[in-house]
Amino acid sequence: MIELHELTKRYGDTVAVDRLSFQVPQGVVTGFLGPNGAGKSTTMRMILDLDHPTSGRVTIDGKRYGQLSEPLKYIGALLEAKAVHPGRTAYDHLLWLAQSNRIPRGRVDEVLALVGLTGVAKKRSRGFSLGMGQRLGIASALLGDPEIVMFDEPVNGLDPEGILWIRNLMKGLASEGRTVFVSSHLMSEMALTADHLVVIGRGRLLANLSMAEFIKQNSRSAVRVRTPHVEQLLTALHSAGLNAVPGPAASYEIEDGDLAHIGELAASHGVTLHELSPQQASLEEAFMQMTADSVQYQAGGGPSPAGPGPDAAWGTGWKEKS
Ligand code: ADP
Ligand code: MG
Repeated sequence: MIELHELTKRYGDTVAVDRLSFQVPQGVVTGFLGPNGAGKSTTMRMILDLDHPTSGRVTIDGKRYGQLSEPLKYIGALLEAKAVHPGRTAYDHLLWLAQSNRIPRGRVDEVLALVGLTGVAKKRSRGFSLGMGQRLGIASALLGDPEIVMFDEPVNGLDPEGILWIRNLMKGLASEGRTVFVSSHLMSEMALTADHLVVIGRGRLLANLSMAEFIKQNSRSAVRVRTPHVEQLLTALHSAGLNAVPGPAASYEIEDGDLAHIGELAASHGVTLHELSPQQASLEEAFMQMTADSVQYQAGGGPSPAGPGPDAAWGTGWKEKS
């Protein structure tokens, strides 16, 4: 298990990671979500001991990465920067990694097959597409058959087929009982992949909860109606105990309203509707609101002395359910 305790990293005046504490659960895909510059890559580098914490600690099965003997057998990682020698073939790259970690040669062929690179194993990686490079990176991560795998923005720049492949691979690894920790700046991607979600902004923990809980808390729905007979409609809704709030383009929206019920209510009052449509607040919107403060910070190019502004909290769109 990966455990972070008050993990902090400063680069000069920049606090890249700010007292981050959480555990990555086993047997599920945990999405590590945050806008660009939130501190995801820095956190992952510290997990691998590639960067030293300013304070706090991070452990893998209770030990620092540097204290693990044959670390590739505990944790495999795909980081953002490509670390493959371009003149080396995929096979030679993996063999070199295997030999320096006392992993049997036969495992090289296994992981090549697993990522679908067997056919190009003897080609120099210089000629690899982005997708092939990612597959080779993943083959390296899986070489030691680790219990924990960590991927930093693995789908960036990939075509839909490559994205689907990585998504299914991660789900498969988790279903084998492994710990899968994957970063992304896209809520939409996490919604399709992750079972658990850790959200950070500006290096700080903003949320740590199951994907199901995040969806439950954030997918608010509403029914939108438009009519030339506003007064009659509002009266009809009111008589049924429903509250409508003004929406865009002279529409009204009924939070948590039932489409059929509202249609029938309008008909029974002789109200003509020009629109009757379901509205769904996207998870992307929820994520953007949650991290609005850290995005403003990025756009401003420096820390705001005033701290979080009034717009930083939830506030736009529908009211929060109490
Ligand atoms: P993310 O991966 O979430 O996009 P990063 O971890 O790359 O975020 O960066 C977090 C913050 O730390 C950013 O403000 C970034 O500019 C800064 N940062 C990251 N690495 C370094 C470094 N080596 N030197 C100075 N600042 C850095
Ligand atoms: Mg990053």
